[in-house]
Amino acid sequence: MPEGPEIRRAADAVETALKGLKTTAVWFAQPRLKRFEASLTGIEVTAVDTRGKAMLTRFLVFRRAGLPCYRCGTPIAKVRRGGQPCYLCPRCQKVAEIEKDIS
Ligand SMILES: [Zn+2]
Repeated sequence: MPEGPEIRRAADAVETALKGLKTTAVWFAQPRLKRFEASLTGIEVTAVDTRGKAMLTRFLVFRRAGLPCYRCGTPIAKVRRGGQPCYLCPRCQKVAEIEKDIS
């Protein structure tokens, strides 16, 4: 598994390929994440970040807390997930389901 500069270079390549595009299909290997596949389908990718050996795909809601969702106009919410900030649209992404999943 790449890390450090290698994972950043890989993330840059993935970001170049995906930035500005909308997801057409989302698939998670982990069963507990399956319920989020539908709510992330059709959302624009804005960046690909790295954390350790992980590649993090950022979507249109990232760092837009309080601003209107591009899809429905509902203000974007900022919640904590595993000690990290997470941005989402409470209407499009069903906050109650997400908070239940992360507690
Ligand atoms: Zn929305």
